[in-house]
Amino acid sequence: MLAPDALGLRDFEGASGAIADGMVLEGPLSAVNASALRANIPSLRPQPVGLATSAGVGDRLGLATPGHVRAFRKYGAGIVPVFAQQSMREMDRLERTPQQVLDDATFGCLEGGWVGAVGADADHLKSTVEIDRCLAAGFTSFTLDPGEHVRDVPAVVSTEVLGGLPWAALEDDAESMARRYTGLAVEAEGTVIRIEEEDIRRAAAKYGDAVAYTVSMYRHLLEHAGYPVEVEVSVDETESPTTVAEHVYMATEMKRLGMTWVSFAPRYVGGFEKGIEYLGDTTVFFNSLVAHASIARAMGPYKISLHSGSDKFSIYELAVAATGRLVHLKTSGTSYLEALGVAARRDPALFREIYDVSRDAYRSTRASYQVSAQLERTAVAGDFTDEQLPALVTNRDSRQILHVGYGAVLTSRDDHGSRWMSDALRSLLSTRAEEYELALETHLGRHLVPFAEPSR
Ligand SMILES: [Zn+2]
Repeated sequence: MLAPDALGLRDFEGASGAIADGMVLEGPLSAVNASALRANIPSLRPQPVGLATSAGVGDRLGLATPGHVRAFRKYGAGIVPVFAQQSMREMDRLERTPQQVLDDATFGCLEGGWVGAVGADADHLKSTVEIDRCLAAGFTSFTLDPGEHVRDVPAVVSTEVLGGLPWAALEDDAESMARRYTGLAVEAEGTVIRIEEEDIRRAAAKYGDAVAYTVSMYRHLLEHAGYPVEVEVSVDETESPTTVAEHVYMATEMKRLGMTWVSFAPRYVGGFEKGIEYLGDTTVFFNSLVAHASIARAMGPYKISLHSGSDKFSIYELAVAATGRLVHLKTSGTSYLEALGVAARRDPALFREIYDVSRDAYRSTRASYQVSAQLERTAVAGDFTDEQLPALVTNRDSRQILHVGYGAVLTSRDDHGSRWMSDALRSLLSTRAEEYELALETHLGRHLVPFAEPSR
């Protein structure tokens, strides 16, 4: 075997040799080799996705990309995949670095043989430090999340509250703002959306801090990115739904302050809980999405982004109809649940441990997620027969408990400090790779079909 350089494979580590119809490189799944792969094979390099219909599929274990590739290849015509997508919160809980997230997706793309465009989404970034960490890894889509700066506001906003906004950062003052919006009507595809002064005062009180914070993150990103990047703005993880006037306010102000973005995730009406169907009236959801999508087309255009999008089968077709495929879908935990499905079927002892650890952790993990599972409605793993275990992955309460328990499970250590549950799950998935890939292909496929390009 020769050093990779000797055969023209630049920057790899490992050993290489010539074979009958080419050459073979043998090396570790290391950051050096992931980076060399991206340097040598252009299709493995993530790029900004722009306005193309797209879907991001998170992967908490770093093993799901080959199955994701199969889902996109079979069911995702005309949808740009974002295989590397993880929020900082998840990375921290999993003790994973942005570089590991990106590299796992790179190796998975190679293994799955994906040759189309790919994006890479650094999701829910809340600070410039987080932006820097993801820039260093080579992410190309940056989801800026100013959620902690969104305020609760009363029905009528006082002058004092308005006076407390960060006007200097907004390069604005209350009088100028009132003047700009007086009599404003946004024409969005036939419907005229009239904005009343009171609506704007409320919108500014609720989202003014968030706009200022987003703009500061955005400027930091553009100043420090040495390569093409794109931005999504998300306020989906906040208390109250984003109204039409509030969307208009945010978009107007971010534009005025020089921002461009490719997608926006408002806080939608109804329940977007983790891992389960949409909770609420789908007609109300559709009507509000039509309004948000019209604003996005009129003021951008930019895509409407559906976060916590997994398992919401009742709304995908409505979302496509409302947005005309100018849409981005995000799922994250659902691929982990497919992995747990394999464990429930193939390794009952391991699954029982995972389930009980998730259950124990639920009281603390539930705080940071939109979930409604009740511990009291579930039993401990010992109460179930082996045959009953797979149903725990699909039943609503236990599904959510498993969904948000990933951090406790995957970082749980034995006396020797090794992450034994994570290791056991990984080794099971590598011996059952075909079953896991097929489960991902089928389950993610159900998500992608409604968003795919209609065949002509
Ligand atoms: Zn989100």
